Amino acid sequence: MRKITYLDQLSQVEKVIRKCEVCHVAMVSPDGDPYLVPFNFGYADGYIYLHSDPKGMKIDYLKNNPKVCINFTTDHDLFHINKEVACSYGMRYRSVIVNGEVEFIDTIEEKERFLNVFMGQYVEGGDFTYSGPALTNVCVMRVKVENFKGKLYGYQPE
Ligand SMILES: Cc1cc2nc3c(=O)[nH]c(=O)nc-3n(C[C@H](O)[C@H](O)[C@H](O)COP(=O)(O)OP(=O)(O)OC[C@H]3O[C@@H](n4cnc5c(N)ncnc54)[C@H](O)[C@@H]3O)c2cc1C
Repeated sequence: MRKITYLDQLSQVEKVIRKCEVCHVAMVSPDGDPYLVPFNFGYADGYIYLHSDPKGMKIDYLKNNPKVCINFTTDHDLFHINKEVACSYGMRYRSVIVNGEVEFIDTIEEKERFLNVFMGQYVEGGDFTYSGPALTNVCVMRVKVENFKGKLYGYQPE
C-alpha cells in the first residue's frame, strides 16, 4: 500500500498548485445541478486567477452563485506490483481541493496585473502586453483560497 500524506499548510499546497497545468472548477447551476469546467489558471498569494469569455453558461452560473470547488492534480504515475493482478495497480498523484468564491475583476489596471500572474503560471519571465480591447473584453476572476486540503499518494511533500 502506497503512503498517503495530507497537506494542511498553504505553503505545501501552493507547491502542488504551481506544478499543475489545468484546474477543474465545479459550480452549481441555478437549478442546483453540478457543472464542472476545465480552466487554465494563475496563482499568487492565496488567490487563484481565472480568465474567460464574458458570456456563456459558466459565467451565468457564477454570477448567480459564486461558490466554487476547484481541484488541481499533477504527477500522475501509473504503477503496479504484479502485472497480471488488476488490484495491484494504482496511480501516484499530488492533488489539491480548494473552496472559495469567485470575485469578478472590473478595472483594466487590475485585469492587466492579474493576467500577468496568470501568464506567469505558463511562461517564464515575461513583461506581457495587452491591447485595450482585449482587456476590456476579457472576463477576469479571482478566487481567494478559503478552505484547502492537499493529498499526496505515493509522494512526499516537496
Ligand atoms: C485544458 C483546458 C483549458 C481550458 N482553459 C480555459 C480557460 O482558461 N478559460 C475558459 O474560459 N475556458 C477554458 N477552457 C474551455 C472551458 O472548459 C469551456 O469549454 C469554456 O470556458 C466554455 O464554457 P461555458 O460554460 O461558457 O460553455 P458554453 O459555451 O456556455 O457551453 C455550451 C455547451 O458546451 C458544453 N461544454 C462547455 N465546455 C465544455 C467542455 N470543456 N467539455 C465538454 N463540453 C463543454 C456545455 O456543457 C454546454 O452544453 C479550457 C478547456 C480545456 C480542456
